[in-house]
Amino acid sequence: MTPPKAIIIASGSELLAGLHTDTNTQFLAQSLRRIGIGVMRTLIVGDAYNDLVDTFSYALDRAQIVLISGGLGPTVDDLTREALSEATGIEMVESPYALEEIRERFRSLNREMSENNRCQALVPVSGMYFSNPNGTAPGLVFDAGNRLAIALPGPPRELRPMVENHVIPFLEQKYPGLPKESSVMVRFVGSGESTIDQILREKVPFDPRIRVSLLARLGLVDLTLYCPTSEEADLSLLDESRKRVLAVLGDYAYATEMVDLGEVVASMLLDRGETLATAESCTGGLIGAAITSIPGSSRYYVGGFVTYSNEAKVLQLGVRPETLERHGAVSEETVWEMAMGGARSLKADWCVSVTGIAGPDGGTPEKPVGTVWIGVACPGRNWGSVRRCQFFGDRQAIRERTRVAVFDELHKALRKKEI
Ligand code: AMP
Ligand code: MG
Repeated sequence: MTPPKAIIIASGSELLAGLHTDTNTQFLAQSLRRIGIGVMRTLIVGDAYNDLVDTFSYALDRAQIVLISGGLGPTVDDLTREALSEATGIEMVESPYALEEIRERFRSLNREMSENNRCQALVPVSGMYFSNPNGTAPGLVFDAGNRLAIALPGPPRELRPMVENHVIPFLEQKYPGLPKESSVMVRFVGSGESTIDQILREKVPFDPRIRVSLLARLGLVDLTLYCPTSEEADLSLLDESRKRVLAVLGDYAYATEMVDLGEVVASMLLDRGETLATAESCTGGLIGAAITSIPGSSRYYVGGFVTYSNEAKVLQLGVRPETLERHGAVSEETVWEMAMGGARSLKADWCVSVTGIAGPDGGTPEKPVGTVWIGVACPGRNWGSVRRCQFFGDRQAIRERTRVAVFDELHKALRKKEI
């Protein structure tokens, strides 16, 4: 059997107007890919009835599977149900079971069900519906024999569990034995995408069966290698290829699965049973926020300082006024005293510190916007490092890149055997 192809349609005038970001399409595409169903197109359509019918018909003419999100609400602008009924030629009837589920949902919320919600109990006569425990609109399957159209609620917190629990199992059953792509990944920090690409080309020529993807963001690079099937030969080809990548680029690799650099650093600190503090200037607490966004951070993160002004650096971290006077707030000397002061005040094993110029103002020829100093101190082991970075982009980009670079510095330090 040739694998079926899918078209994904996001409906909603707010998406077309650019007022709301379509995240459902990405989620749906990834979910389909996991079970070996490729996506041939994705479309966005507004809430006008004729446009919906037109778009659904277009998709049903081309793909065996059409997934639609949005427009299943109870209000006048929610027309997916009717438009899909027209495009497939499949009528709808009120399902007493679906109606009871909707009633039950309102009862559990202690609310009265209004009459317009009744339309949400309409289900296709050929097909089925998926219950929605997180909302009122059930998902609908219009089964036209050789074509399937599946309509899903728009809110991601309703759509995602429905896809996981119902749509994917349903499609797997409908299309058994599809070849499932396999993949391995390596995540890098501290080297650019083009450098990694260059090294891979020179030193690790990949087997032609392998498809290579490199994705870069904020100083982090993800390499993913794909093979067309999950058979033993492909799995071992991927495994062996990843080993070769790690042999040449292992110094920059921080993970071989979907974990964040922050999480990797966290588990290294936990393994060592050591604690961390932060002393931040230009990031204004971003690093502390990133650390505490990881569950369990209280086991190693003791706290931090946001010392924006010179006075705060002196008062809270014990940076010497002469240091600030002589070298300035954005300097090697200041960032080092910040790191040492943070570790000392909070009795932490490690302290990372940051001072820089995030812009748009404040740059000078010697210290242009994007100049950031990063310090790492581990006083108990008499170890420390300082690094000067030059970042580009706007204020937000510079702050975000600084966050990544801080984790990179800490990761490099924690990896050193001698420390
Ligand atoms: P609807 O089911 O069309 O009434 O959509 C209800 C809500 O779901 C919208 O107001 C959005 O907040 C959200 N939503 C709809 N479509 C999408 C989408 N493609 N991506 C992310 N959120 C969406
Ligand atoms: Mg809508």
